[in-house]
Amino acid sequence: MAHPDSFQNFCHIRRGRPDGSDGLARYSEGDLFSPAPKPALVWFEANACSGDSISLLNSVAPGLSQILCSLVAVKYWNALMPDQGTRAREMLFQTAEAGDFILAVEGAIATAGQGRYVIPFQNDGSVFTSEELLHYLAPKSRFIMAVGTCAAFGGPAAARPNPSGSKGVWELIQDRPVINVPGCPVNPDWFIGTLYHLVRFGLPEVDRYQRPTLFYGQTIHSLCQRRSYFDHHCFAAAPGDAECMYSLGCMGPVAGADCPNRLWNDHLNWPVKASTPCIGCTKSGFPDRSSPFDVPLPEKLPRRGGRADASGPKKPPEEA
Ligand code: SF4
Repeated sequence: MAHPDSFQNFCHIRRGRPDGSDGLARYSEGDLFSPAPKPALVWFEANACSGDSISLLNSVAPGLSQILCSLVAVKYWNALMPDQGTRAREMLFQTAEAGDFILAVEGAIATAGQGRYVIPFQNDGSVFTSEELLHYLAPKSRFIMAVGTCAAFGGPAAARPNPSGSKGVWELIQDRPVINVPGCPVNPDWFIGTLYHLVRFGLPEVDRYQRPTLFYGQTIHSLCQRRSYFDHHCFAAAPGDAECMYSLGCMGPVAGADCPNRLWNDHLNWPVKASTPCIGCTKSGFPDRSSPFDVPLPEKLPRRGGRADASGPKKPPEEA
């Protein structure tokens, strides 16, 4: 049976192993077929591009379907479930009334125009907005996960001028802990690892943005393979160069995530390894506070002052 200490060790042991290929999902292999009860999972999509659902399809060894069939009982997931229409809605309402399920929200919640920018479905001739669905499901659930940066903080859906009044889930649900699992899109390991922790061990330790510290507790800058270039003031002149991307707008110094170690696409690559800057997609305020993407950090954080120069900062700004 899994133990929280060994689980956390597994998550942390990946530090310094940027080319490791044994994904987080493998940790759970021996535990997946235990007879432990499987809690119900309800996933609904609000103001989103479905990118998080698509990203999760990149979970490998075991795949997403194995995790979802063995760890939880998926009752509603509009993008992946075979049932449609009345049968799907009935399953959703039955699960909600039974309570004690895990609620995963993908996408921001639209609040302008009576919430009618996002209507997940109609029922008996009346519409259910994403805001109404959230307020219906959240009080009945055991845990609430905001998956992806739109659900967590508003993300691109809430970018200026935000005509739909989109907000992160935790702005609307303030009497319950909302576990934020941001990323644009979310890394499969971040979602599966958080889900695994909730099912087997309960609420994980979180930072001030309600993100699990297991995955978001350090800045990208502190883990980056190009950190020695930064420390020696060697900066890239153009995308594709081998040096530090700070000069090209890299948000690594203020973005909390373990991308340099965990990697993407079955643990193969991440933006800086592909010679483009990190755009800080796990941050609250993304993308507005990361824009323009190619402008160095001091100019994107005007109150912190100063232009980026060839020598770079003596001390990078803290996670913001
Ligand atoms: S600024 Fe970006 S590329 Fe440079 S060391 Fe930090 S995270 Fe890596």
